Amino acid sequence: MINLVSGGAGFIGRHLIEKLLNLNERVICIDNFSSGSKVNAEKWVSNPHFDLLEHDITEYIDLKIDRIWHLACPASPYHYQKQPILTSKINFLGTYNLLKLADKYNARFLFTSSSEIYGDSGNEEQNENFYGYLNPVGKRSCYGEGKRIAESLCFDFYRHNNTDIRVARLFNVYGPNMSRNDGRVISNFICQALQGKEINIYGDGSQTRSFCYVSDIISGLLKLMNSSYIDPINLGNPYQEICIKKLAKLIINKIDPSLDLKFSSLPEGDPKMRKPNILNAKKFINWEPLINLNSGLEYTINYFKNVFE
Ligand code: UDP
Repeated sequence: MINLVSGGAGFIGRHLIEKLLNLNERVICIDNFSSGSKVNAEKWVSNPHFDLLEHDITEYIDLKIDRIWHLACPASPYHYQKQPILTSKINFLGTYNLLKLADKYNARFLFTSSSEIYGDSGNEEQNENFYGYLNPVGKRSCYGEGKRIAESLCFDFYRHNNTDIRVARLFNVYGPNMSRNDGRVISNFICQALQGKEINIYGDGSQTRSFCYVSDIISGLLKLMNSSYIDPINLGNPYQEICIKKLAKLIINKIDPSLDLKFSSLPEGDPKMRKPNILNAKKFINWEPLINLNSGLEYTINYFKNVFE
């Protein structure tokens, strides 16, 4: 089985490739290294089952493959707002090009969408039937609307060409191998704390997120890819929804409880609440997350401790 992983040099891509290689699968990683790191992906180049291609998926590429895992896209608000036009192009043109490729070789195509497609649902948890409440012209739109048009393309390819699609909506994934400059809340808080800096909370910290440890996401993606489930499916951890202020306290208590919290302005369009409803994932692909926030944070802090040594 030949697997194409777009965005394979990114945080989730690296974990996925590791898993696929451990399963003795063949992997071709393509990445333009706009937010992923070349050094990270080069660690497998001596593996005969692995190939690394520097390529921008906004250009079509012809490779004979059996499965496509389409992960490519700058994922943190910091990165995608720095390159919003590229983010939209990757989501539309990149997804289009890879769907064409899937069609040509009858490959199964898994798209990693995002909880961001729901926008700000107020105080409701998000299930897959919620159509979303998004600002189409805000600073986050290149990502949220980008993921929406990409999902829409997937389903049109499915309806018109019978393309074998899978769509996972990922909720706030974290874990080892996040880049220290990723800009996501968990990596920022851990890196600030390890450097003895103040912890910078955006807004008053009452907004909530539900964080999912990366190994759980990888097992969910594998189960989805191997299932016959076509509709979009939430993959996330609903068991410990937590407000950002509490998260900050949890992290400093593990690193240095004397550190101060500082508050700065809330970015535009920052959703108030994120909590996935995962009943479909449980029922149709027999998946639920196993790693609790406490353990996941410990593993992630240990990873960053080594980065700072
Ligand atoms: N956030 C924060 N400090 C940071 C980074 C993020 O308080 O250094 C907040 C951010 O405003 C959001 C939450 O933490 O409410 C999660 O942010 P992240 O960028 O990790 O993910 P997303 O907004 O995409 O859920």
